[in-house]
Amino acid sequence: REIATDMRTLTRQVEEFARNKKIEIETLKVREAYRKEFLGNISHELKTPLFTVQGYIDTLIEGAHKDKAIRKKYLARAQKGVDRLTYIVNDMDMITKLELGDLNLDKTDFDIIDLVRHVFDQFEMKAAKKKISLLFDMVYTEPIMVHADEERIQQVLANLLVNSIKYGKTNGTTEVAIEDLINNKVIVRVTDNGEGIDKTHIPRLFERFFRVDRTGSRKEGGSGLGLAIVKHIIEAHDERIYVDSELGIGSEFSFTLEKVSSSRLDSEIPGSIS
Ligand code: ADP
Repeated sequence: REIATDMRTLTRQVEEFARNKKIEIETLKVREAYRKEFLGNISHELKTPLFTVQGYIDTLIEGAHKDKAIRKKYLARAQKGVDRLTYIVNDMDMITKLELGDLNLDKTDFDIIDLVRHVFDQFEMKAAKKKISLLFDMVYTEPIMVHADEERIQQVLANLLVNSIKYGKTNGTTEVAIEDLINNKVIVRVTDNGEGIDKTHIPRLFERFFRVDRTGSRKEGGSGLGLAIVKHIIEAHDERIYVDSELGIGSEFSFTLEKVSSSRLDSEIPGSIS
């Protein structure tokens, strides 16, 4: 009887091993398919800036370097191309980590108002170049503490702000507003009065490499990954992202965040009675 029990245990172990191996193989297959598709996208996206850089360098080597003004101009353009390549590669690195679930969130409590102000400072110059006003409701006198990965949420805000400026119109506005929701949540809204998005494109907007107007977006320096990164970060937080847009009128992107409950805040203030 002992041998029979041992055999049953062994069979169970072998079955479990086989099951685990199968899962492992399935995971590898998914990863392999993902890798193949992604590699195709990557080479396509990198070709344009790579050819640009190569073109300027070839021209310089062929003799353009002799003229100081032309040399400076071509080198500056080549540098811009390299910057663009770096930007795309960084976005690709981020989306790969997010899509394969390799990105661990580092959640802390922070003031979302502070973060919005910080991101506004970052983009003031970019907005000013297009005469776009960045507006943030001044009613916020108290901090609004949220629990999330601050660096990633900064990236979400940055990507949404960059888009609102890129696809915004000259003399337009980008406005950020924060509202309390029930269930200890806040919603952050980024609204612009720019070119807007046709309804037919909305369902694909958050797909990686999707762009409404490929040439327009390239000219503006996009990677086609901005919104895909935003969606992944928000979903990794178990939060929601929404878009509301009308062609020719403007767009609103909004996302939710978990608010730090006031009771928890009180207990963290030194000297307070909890
Ligand atoms: P890109 O690098 O092309 O900007 P994104 O993923 O950030 O990539 O955005 C995808 C597409 O969605 C853009 O190419 C653009 O067509 C559209 N889009 C994003 N944000 C806005 C906005 N605020 N107004 C109008 N169109 C937008």
